[in-house]
Amino acid sequence: MRIARYIADGTVAYGVIDGSTILPVLGADSLITASSGRRHGAPRPLGSVGLQCPVAPMARNPFCVGWNYEDHFAEGQARRGPGAATEIPDRPTFFTKATSSLIGPGDNIKAHRALTTSLDWEVELVVVIGRSAANIREDNAMKHVLGFTIANDVSARDVQREHGGQWFRGKSLDRTSPIGPWVVTADELEPLEHRAITCRVNGETVQSAVLGDLHFGVARVIAELSRGLTLMAGDVILTGTPSGVGFARTPPRFLAPGDVVESEIEGIGVMRNQVAE
Ligand code: MG
Repeated sequence: MRIARYIADGTVAYGVIDGSTILPVLGADSLITASSGRRHGAPRPLGSVGLQCPVAPMARNPFCVGWNYEDHFAEGQARRGPGAATEIPDRPTFFTKATSSLIGPGDNIKAHRALTTSLDWEVELVVVIGRSAANIREDNAMKHVLGFTIANDVSARDVQREHGGQWFRGKSLDRTSPIGPWVVTADELEPLEHRAITCRVNGETVQSAVLGDLHFGVARVIAELSRGLTLMAGDVILTGTPSGVGFARTPPRFLAPGDVVESEIEGIGVMRNQVAE
């Protein structure tokens, strides 16, 4: 099942996508209720509605994993300097980003030219939690997943470095990070390993991997994150980005107003966002 959040006739609603149409789920007030809702309204053409960030509104910040593809960890190694980790740590590296950084499919990525000259792309698989729990066992973790969608964890590299090299602030600028275009339930996407994950900038492929390249898989990430920390239905986890980001290129390459970023995962879809001031 593909669940979208959309605006039509001035009202935000949830719907289930069926081919080129969307069926409103009457009475749904969240992804969770939409996934179990049975009362579908009259279908509308998908192209006639405005798709919104499917995971909004959120009760708390999205969780994010850093360094979860080995080739992305390696490409950043030279820039981290002496004393930095030389191998991916034994447990996943977690951080978070502000909910006000999130936008929907089709929204513009805000360039923030007065603040940053190094806005960078990071396509990522997003896990949407469907069942709340703490201390989730890895072998039981997929039962807590509602589904998956796509994010671009757009990052202002200079802002990251200006604030001690931590990740929160450079990844939290207003209206920079698209999530969408919809959520695909886990039953429709598994197994994940062979699914391609791709980012294109102005039509050129800049990131290309498969989800099987994740160093810590989805079940391990959920098990580690939920140790003593209750994951709640509706929480989202960005699972990390593969290699090919702009800052690690020679010469480095960053986003500018007018650029078009396409974030794609095979079996979910394509999300297209333009950079604009
Ligand atoms: Mg990231």
